[in-house]
Order: sequence, then C-alpha cells, then structure tokens
Amino acid sequence: MKTTEEIMFNEEEREFRNELRAILEKEMKPKMRQQYEEDIYPRDIYEKLGEKGFLGQLLPPEYGGRGKILYDAIVAEELGAYGGSIGYLHGTSSYAYGTILEFGNEEQKKKFLPPMKEGKKLGSIVITEEEAGSDVTMIKTKAEPKGDYYILNGEKRSITNGGEPNNIELVWVITNPDVDPAKGTSCFIVEPEMEGFEVVGKHGILGGIPGVRNYRLRFTNMKVPQENMIGGENDGFRVMMDELALERALYALFCVGGARVALELSTKYSTQRVQFGVPLRRFEEISFRIADMATKLEAARLVSYHTIRLMDEGNPAEKESAMAKLIASEAYSYITTTALQIYGDRGVSSDVDYDAYMVEWLFRHGRLSMIPTGTVEIMRFIIQREIYKELKRK
Ligand SMILES: Cc1cc2nc3c(=O)[nH]c(=O)nc-3n(C[C@H](O)[C@H](O)[C@H](O)COP(=O)(O)OP(=O)(O)OC[C@H]3O[C@@H](n4cnc5c(N)ncnc54)[C@H](O)[C@@H]3O)c2cc1C
Repeated sequence: MKTTEEIMFNEEEREFRNELRAILEKEMKPKMRQQYEEDIYPRDIYEKLGEKGFLGQLLPPEYGGRGKILYDAIVAEELGAYGGSIGYLHGTSSYAYGTILEFGNEEQKKKFLPPMKEGKKLGSIVITEEEAGSDVTMIKTKAEPKGDYYILNGEKRSITNGGEPNNIELVWVITNPDVDPAKGTSCFIVEPEMEGFEVVGKHGILGGIPGVRNYRLRFTNMKVPQENMIGGENDGFRVMMDELALERALYALFCVGGARVALELSTKYSTQRVQFGVPLRRFEEISFRIADMATKLEAARLVSYHTIRLMDEGNPAEKESAMAKLIASEAYSYITTTALQIYGDRGVSSDVDYDAYMVEWLFRHGRLSMIPTGTVEIMRFIIQREIYKELKRK
C-alpha cells in the first residue's frame, strides 16, 4: 500500500525534499537557538541553500531550475518547519523571481534571475502603504516619466526584507493618476542601492519575531530606468494579481511546515508530561485536540499542494490560492495556539529546552500568518466573489 507521500509526490520530488531536510538538519538546526535568542537574520543559510541548488526551482532549466512551482512549494514547507523566519527570505524572493519570470522581458530575466537563483540577491514585494492595506487601489506612490527614466516618490510600509542590501524589489506605483487605479498602476524593479531609496524604519512584528525583517521605505525623486518596468505601462494590476496568487499558494505551504512541527512537538509532549499520574494524552480534552490539529493540517496540506499542481498546469488558481492561504493560515494559528496550551508554562517561558521555545516561536508565526499576503477576511471575500462569478457563467 502506498503512503500519502508516495501518492502525492513522485520519487524525484521526495528525494528533493529529503536532501533539503538533511541540509537543514545539519546547517540550520544547530543555529536555531542562537538565531532565536539573538534575533539573527539567516541570510548566510539562505545563500548556502542557493549554493546547493535549492532556490529558484520554479525557474525553467535554462535558469537552473526545474520549471515547477511544486519544488519551491516543498522548499517553503520545509523552511516553514525551521522556526519560520528563514521561510520569509525564501518567500518574498520566490514571489519576486516567479513574477519576473512571468512578466519580465528577456533582458530583465537574464539580469535579475541568476543572482536570485544563487541566493546572492533577495527579492521583495513592495505594495503596502499607509492608506493601501487590503485595498490596494489606494496606492499613492507615484512614478512620473522623465526621458529614459521614471521618477518615483512615496512611502511604503510593512515590507518584508525590503530594506536589506542586494535586494531586487518589485514596487507597485501609480503611473496614471487620472484613471481607475486598476488601469493606472505599474510595476518597477528597484534596487536599494538606487539614489533616493531610503529605509526610514523597521517594524517590530509581535514584539519582534526573531530573524524576520520588515521595513518602512521612502522613495524621494528616485530615478528608475524605464527598462526596469515589468509587464507594461499601466498594466501593474494584472502583474499584482498574478503575483498575489503565487504568493498565497507558496505562503500556504510555509504555514503547513510550521504547523506540522507544532503538531509533532505537542503530540510528543502529550506522551511525556505526566499530571494526575498519567500522560497528558490520556485526557480526552488533550487527545481530541491532537485529532483536530492533525485533521486541519492534513486538509490544509492537501488543498495547498493541489493549488500548486493547478498552477503548474497553467491555471491562474485565484480562488484556490485564496482557499489555500485561508485554510493553511487558520490551521497554523489554531495548531500553534493549541500546542502552546498543551505545553503549559513551558510554552511561554524562556528558560526551556529546544522543543518548548520552538513552540513559542511557531506560535508567533502562526498568529501572524492570518495577516500578510491578504488577510483571512480578504481571502473569504475573494473565494465568494469567484464562486458567484462561476455561477453567473453557468
Ligand atoms: C508580517 C507581515 C509581513 C508583510 N509583508 C509585506 C510585504 O512584504 N509587502 C507588502 O506590500 N505588504 C506586506 N505586509 C502588509 C500586508 O499585506 C497587509 O498588512 C495586509 O494586506 C492587510 O492590510 P492592513 O494591515 O493595512 O489591514 P487593513 O486593510 O486596514 O484591514 C484591517 C482589518 O479589516 C479587515 N478588512 C479590510 N477590508 C475588509 C473587507 N473588505 N471585508 C472584511 N474585512 C476587511 C482586514 O481583514 C483586517 O482584519 C505584511 C504584513 C505583515 C503583518
């Protein structure tokens, strides 16, 4: 009889996952505690993953990848399992190289994809502003043409990895303020080394999640060459919608990875911790929660990989990627909150062993996960909108 893993993944895919796990176990695990306690940004490990060929897997073979989003999804799941923070480096970078692959011209691909594939450059997605959160039509950052350049002015907030050096940033701006923003937005590739690019603040997320960097950025008369526009003038919304679907599907797998570890740890703990003369698992209140956690995780994992497979077949999967993000982030939040509860005071104390502090770290990621890449409320909005569109087409 085949296992779930054998049904879901072929041999090459399973081998890829096993090799990655072995490297993370060797390179990442020994450094986890220090990363957590000292808030170390895991860029060196990310670069090592690039050197070993684990990044840029959705890129076609001519760019050194395997041409399937599925491999980046496996990376997202496994990195999510390692405290989550390194997953944010792979996350924003994979959304960016996936979008450049989809919408960039040949020169842009040749220039920007190889260093991202090698892990020497990160990628960032730069959409959110003070007034533009869930409602991305409220973007105010502007780009005005001047000769061979565009001049960018404005401020962005909550940008993951966005202020880090050697970063390739996809920035959405208004290029035609006189029309509906959906028809007047464009996307540019920007590098932090450009004159006029400024990091004006660092957001502490939930009191500061170790290893995660999130920035406020300002562009002041920043000259961006015309050749850095991707997807055509005023066509930025189409690029954004495609980017967000990829982002949501991959982020869902990142959630699945973290939730998987929280479930494993709390299941194990429920057999070890003895109260009232029996291990915790003997209390139905605890063991039934383990059952709920496992069921939510299984559902989230299946929906998420199904969405990735649809995308690999060329389906835009707007509804499915919203479903994946919704179910996976709610499962991640539920599972990590419950894991923390099962761990009792060890789950919230600092003088504890590796497993217990992982539970706390994952809990912060789990709660957080219902906000980025579009909140769970916005996911529900998209899903119902697509369902009613389908009904109208019937
Ligand atoms: C850790 C983290 C990383 C992030 N990284 C990035 C990044 O790299 N790049 C980037 O551009 N952005 C990033 N963001 C920003 C993120 O995309 C926004 O936070 C998100 O889209 C929600 O916007 P908002 O926070 O302004 O909330 P708001 O839009 O102000 O919403 C507030 C509340 O109202 C609800 N709400 C809003 N509209 C509706 C509606 N129509 N129906 C029902 N409920 C509604 C929301 O769901 C939410 O609960 C990040 C955010 C976080 C927390």
